[in-house]
Amino acid sequence: MKSYGWLFDPKRCIECSACEAACKQWNQVETGVNVRWRRVLRQESGTFPVVQTTAVSMACNHCENAFCQKVCPARAIWRRDDGIVLIDAERCVGCGQCYVFCPYGAPQLNPTTRKTTKCTMCFDRIEQGLQPACATVCPTGALQWGEWDEIQGKGVDRMPGFHFPRQMQPHVRFVKETWRS
Ligand code: SF4
Ligand code: SF4
Ligand code: SF4
Repeated sequence: MKSYGWLFDPKRCIECSACEAACKQWNQVETGVNVRWRRVLRQESGTFPVVQTTAVSMACNHCENAFCQKVCPARAIWRRDDGIVLIDAERCVGCGQCYVFCPYGAPQLNPTTRKTTKCTMCFDRIEQGLQPACATVCPTGALQWGEWDEIQGKGVDRMPGFHFPRQMQPHVRFVKETWRS
């Protein structure tokens, strides 16, 4: 069965946060509780005075070796046949193990509901033949989404500040030749 993933090009990202806003809007992610399923971040690398900052738009990478799933004591996290990793809110006990072990900050505790939530890869949109909301609105093409077989060959598995790609097998690739230098 086909699976999906992200392609991110840091040089194209203008840090407009349209992807973040679209995610909140489509998924009705609660505002005012600091839950951001997609986050536009600045990664720093290098050593002073030669320091480089790189923009990255990060959400759940729907890892093949999803540590969040392995450590969840309530078995609330599962991976669909198409690779999308989801959290069952009914089962989630809000213990926080998944966000301790996810290196990408994807699972986030909603302090109001005491449940952990995260990016669903907009599976509801995919099932309607649509792209995820975040990738749809990106005005520069910095954030793209597609079938993993095609995405994989378009980038590399690491960028500054992005950790453990070999261990986690995240479904994200980065366009290397355009990194800022
Ligand atoms: S990015 Fe984090 S939350 Fe998403 S599948 Fe990987 S380990 Fe789990
Ligand atoms: S795929 Fe959907 S849920 Fe995931 S970050 Fe993008 S808009 Fe949010
Ligand atoms: S919408 Fe595109 S350009 Fe804007 S912050 Fe997100 S990834 Fe970057």
